[in-house]
Amino acid sequence: MDKYYLNQNVNVLKGVGEKRAKLLRALSISTIEDLICAFPRGYEDRTVLKKIIECKNDETVCIKATVLSSMQVKKVRKNLTIYTLPVSDGTGTMHMTWFNIRFLENKFQKGDTFIFYGKISLFPKKTMASPIFEKEGERRQLGRIYPIYSLTSGINQNMLSGFVKEALLNISDIPETLPDYITQKYGLFDRKTAIFTIHFPKNLESLKKARKRLVFEELFTFQTALYYLKGSHACKKSATAYKTESAREFISSLPFKLTNAQLRVIGDICNDLESGKAMQRLVSGDVGSGKTIVAACAMYITAKNGFSSAMMVPTEILARQHFENLKKLFSPLGIETVLILGGQSLREKKALYERINSGKPLCVVGTHALLFGGAEFTNLGLVITDEQHRFGVNQRKTLGEKAINPHTLVMTATPIPRTMALIIYGDLDISMIDELPPGRQKVNTYILKKHMHEKVYDFIRRECSLGRQAFIVCPLVEDSENMNLKSVTEYAKMLSESIFPDLSVAFIHGKMKPAEKEAIMDDFAQRRIDILCSTSVIEVGVDVPNASVMVIENAERFGLSQLHQLRGRVGRGKNKSYCFLFNESGTEIAEKRMETMKNNHDGFKIAETDLSLRGPGEFFGTRQHGLPVFKIADLYCDMEILNMTTLAAKELIKDDFELKKEKNALISTKIKNLFNNSVTIN
Ligand code: ADP
Ligand code: MG
Repeated sequence: MDKYYLNQNVNVLKGVGEKRAKLLRALSISTIEDLICAFPRGYEDRTVLKKIIECKNDETVCIKATVLSSMQVKKVRKNLTIYTLPVSDGTGTMHMTWFNIRFLENKFQKGDTFIFYGKISLFPKKTMASPIFEKEGERRQLGRIYPIYSLTSGINQNMLSGFVKEALLNISDIPETLPDYITQKYGLFDRKTAIFTIHFPKNLESLKKARKRLVFEELFTFQTALYYLKGSHACKKSATAYKTESAREFISSLPFKLTNAQLRVIGDICNDLESGKAMQRLVSGDVGSGKTIVAACAMYITAKNGFSSAMMVPTEILARQHFENLKKLFSPLGIETVLILGGQSLREKKALYERINSGKPLCVVGTHALLFGGAEFTNLGLVITDEQHRFGVNQRKTLGEKAINPHTLVMTATPIPRTMALIIYGDLDISMIDELPPGRQKVNTYILKKHMHEKVYDFIRRECSLGRQAFIVCPLVEDSENMNLKSVTEYAKMLSESIFPDLSVAFIHGKMKPAEKEAIMDDFAQRRIDILCSTSVIEVGVDVPNASVMVIENAERFGLSQLHQLRGRVGRGKNKSYCFLFNESGTEIAEKRMETMKNNHDGFKIAETDLSLRGPGEFFGTRQHGLPVFKIADLYCDMEILNMTTLAAKELIKDDFELKKEKNALISTKIKNLFNNSVTIN
């Protein structure tokens, strides 16, 4: 018998011709190695035999039973024949039923014993519908833990499982990829055992061990690679060392006292800037924790050292707001601030680029328009991205490439658990602002059903009569077929015509022209608008301290971190503030998520709960471009292994930061293959 090799095409397997090879490619399986690394997505435990008397309605079980009489055949109509086989295991009788299976008619003899697997129904009598069956001891599909694979049409479970078996039984070798000392230290299966077991587990215990080994390998390799790249990078990438005494000047020019957390993070940043190596730092802090000031301090230091800085933000509203705030801070200190947006005229842009290219140190704020066009940033020393979760890794990189080794600072309010931050932002150092400025009040939060709208409108009216303002957030821009989803434009019209004819109601959404949006935000900030209907464009960063009410329609449609961000738009001033969440979904999970919002005000806590309720895929949504995709590891469920691999990877890099030691040869090869020399992390 010929042996199979890992890099051979799957068409060498018995039963796999060109046609099936093509179908398998749809499952990303081209080689023998791909095939044996196509791990099952789940399992059915078909090892436990149940007694007939114990069977419950609707459960799927195995029973071992003896045939009582030959098959009973009933022709219902032309193309429908029902076959019934009575069996017994001594505790009771059960009827096995199939449709149209003439080929099975003579398969069963009275007195034969089989194992049957299928779904039970107890009414009107005990039956098992279309069961799979085997002779005892055969263990092909039954009597074992049965793997469930992701499939494509034309390939079924038994086929795929059969190909894997054929490959594994005749494989030349499955080489180890982890160093011996690691598998020993962490009590891991060797790779070969793990792969055999993940496809054909003998019992649940060994399955768990196989999974642990494979998850460990995946996370450990990824993290070691990140630490390695970061380390070698830090060694290579030198940057201008700044003098940072000017931080004091800046801090004392502020109208308020910074929190200890803010001071600590500014300290981290100063250390980075002084080091002579390019800063690569993530500042993570809850909504309202005061990240902007910290970034501003870094910009000020940069300007004082003769370099420009650029801050990229995800929306024009936010860019404008940051620009206004920074200008107020910087102009008394003699530093010029400029704004770059997509919608500016060519003439405006040209004038701006000229100033940027002049070499005078500037503070530049902009949307991703910063990435395009003629801004050359001859003396760019610091690159900041605010609300990092809105940008992809590549956008961050492009801005970074506008200069030679700039210092980089990324800021995010996505409060991800620290361990997970290490994975997602593994290329960055992390500082947390884990304290809010003093005097912040909790925003009282209420969960409401449709019929409570009148009460909420009355409440808004009362707040407005006290001089305050309200946000109403809806998930859609225009009216949709789905009547449950409130659209911004229609809703604002209804409110201003029927509910609040005496108040000023306006709407804003992402599809409006920048100038329109700007005018409306400005009107709202100047209190010329009482009630602002909005899509989630106001989610990030917008700061109007006089607003005290946040109403969110169809709150069940938003992520909890997003709801937390939205709620963070109120409670920014001295007034008691309120958040009303309308939940139109009746599902239990939606209710749990709303309860989480009501009872928690800490973004980290909320994020963790959301994560556990929805799983990381949905939690991060499609917006989180930076999240690596793992084959078998699940960042949430495998948190314990993740902690282990973080430690292991750190230890390895500390001991061998160049991955040159003989004992790390396997992992070093694997990492170099993984990144294929194509990834540089900035
Ligand atoms: P975020 O972290 O959400 O970006 P911001 O930087 O927008 O928060 O800050 C929120 C508000 O808090 C701003 O109005 C800012 O001026 C104010 N602020 C920041 N730090 C302090 C502080 N130490 N004391 C009082 N107010 C502060
Ligand atoms: Mg902010």
